[in-house]
Formats: sequence, C-alpha cells, structure tokens
Amino acid sequence: RTVYVNGDYLPEDQATVSVFDRGFLMADGVYEVVSVLDGRLLDFAGHMARLQRSLDELAMANPLSENDYLDAHRALVARNGITDGLVYLQVTRGNPGDRDFAYPPEGTRPTVVMFTQSKPGLADQPAAKTGWRIVSVEDLRWGRRDIKTVQLLFPSMAKMEAKARGVDDAWLVEEGKVTEGTSNNAYIVKGGRIITRDLSHDILHGITRAAVLRFAREAQMQVEERSFTIDEAQAADEAFVTSASAFVMPVVEIDGQPVGAGTVGPVAARLREIYLEESRKSAV
Ligand code: PMP
Repeated sequence: RTVYVNGDYLPEDQATVSVFDRGFLMADGVYEVVSVLDGRLLDFAGHMARLQRSLDELAMANPLSENDYLDAHRALVARNGITDGLVYLQVTRGNPGDRDFAYPPEGTRPTVVMFTQSKPGLADQPAAKTGWRIVSVEDLRWGRRDIKTVQLLFPSMAKMEAKARGVDDAWLVEEGKVTEGTSNNAYIVKGGRIITRDLSHDILHGITRAAVLRFAREAQMQVEERSFTIDEAQAADEAFVTSASAFVMPVVEIDGQPVGAGTVGPVAARLREIYLEESRKSAV
C-alpha cells in the first residue's frame, strides 16, 4: 500500500511517525473514515465538516484545506486501485519533541496520516441480509464522545466482549439508556417511527446518521430523536445501526432476544437501499 504522511506518498513500510507524537503518547488526535464505492467518496463534505469541528473542540490547527484533503483522498484511492473500501484520515497534535501534558506551542506541525483499506463488495456485505446480533455493555467512555478522537480503547474492549459472547457488536448503555454502538449509531423502529438518541456530548454525531434521518424525513417516515432502553429495543419491531462503513446494518438480536421477527425488517432494508442510492449519487 501507498500511504500518506504529512504531504508525502510512501510505501507503508517506509512511512514513520515520531515516538513523541502526541497521537501516540496521549491519544491527542482525531480521525475520519470515508467510504469508497466505485472509486468515489461518500459523504465527503460531511466528514470534512466534522473533522473541522473535532479539531476546533480540541483547539488543534487544521493543517490542510478541504480541497487538499480531497486531492489526497483521490490520490490514495487511485494509487492503491481502490474500487470499494475506505480512506482513513488521522490528524494528531504532532511531535513537540518531548512528553508533556501541556499542549505544544502554536506552530507545532500537526501530523496528518492517511491510508486506504480495500473492501471489495463493501455495499453487498452478506451481513446486511442476515443482520447483526448484539449484546449490551455498560458505557464507560469519557464524556466528550462527540469529538472523534483516536482514544478507542473502551470501544475496542466492548467489541472484544461482543466477540467473546459470540455476537457481532455491542450497544453501550449509560444510566439505563443506549448511547450508541462501539462504532455506529443505534436505532429502533416501533409502529413505523424511527427512534434514535438525540445529539449531545454523549454520542458521536454520525455523518451517516444525519444523511439517513434526512432521507427518512424526505420519504415521509416519522423520526423521533430521544434515548431508549434495551428493554424498549428488545420490544421494538426493528433495530439497526448506521456508520460510514456499515451504512445501514440491521440488528436482529439484542442480549439473546430476537427483535421483532428476528429477521431483517422492511424499514432498515429500505433505508439501506435509499442511503446507498442517494450517497452514490452525491459521491465525489
Ligand atoms: N458512533 C461511534 C462511536 C463511531 O465510532 C462511529 C463511526 N466512526 C459512528 C457513531 C458513526 O459515525 P459515521 O456515520 O460518521 O461513520
């Protein structure tokens, strides 16, 4: 693979970052993941807007313009021959030359790293036909989950717990309410209404979430933005998750209980179709 580091395109085994990089020592960095279908980037502008917001919240300079990022995404897709897959982008506060809790002086160059992952047939994931089984896990992450930081250890632990219990993912629960999945936003459908947690510091403001809710409203579906419990989810007609890489993924079982008929429901299936169709149309 060819990867991108601070303006250079290098073979992956020649790309390096300092041991003093604040991303490495302090998880002082943010990231984005953009899906690629047919060689084109999905929801690119949305991901760039959220990147800027994450950087602003951490008072970190944005070293590149949106157009620079677009050029770099396209260059990596072309150089690596990606038809379907992902582009991962990470911006960290860079290398101050030593370890220190205080942010480095202004002018310290942020580190920008980008790489691709090839995922042939990404839009035809077989799991979309059968749905995911999930378990609930207490949400023990920090209180600013709206900032997309590279501090992913707790979601990683929750994913491992899900694996150990033989299922696909975990939904995180705080004060009895579902916040989100380990790397996706969580939804239920009841009586035709689509219910998903309202935006706050408690969850990541998913780019796919924003698009799916917009398409749902345009299709005259009822949307309710509020939190819900695992009990309510188990009693729902359908459940699903959204993310840039899973698109709309049905959830058919929660903590061993089938959701609805325990098969992929019509609302999740339709939203997946609409999302894929519309986001391909606006891909760049
Ligand atoms: N929540 C969390 C915790 C995530 O990590 C992700 C994926 N990065 C999402 C939600 C979904 O966000 P998006 O639709 O922008 O990929």
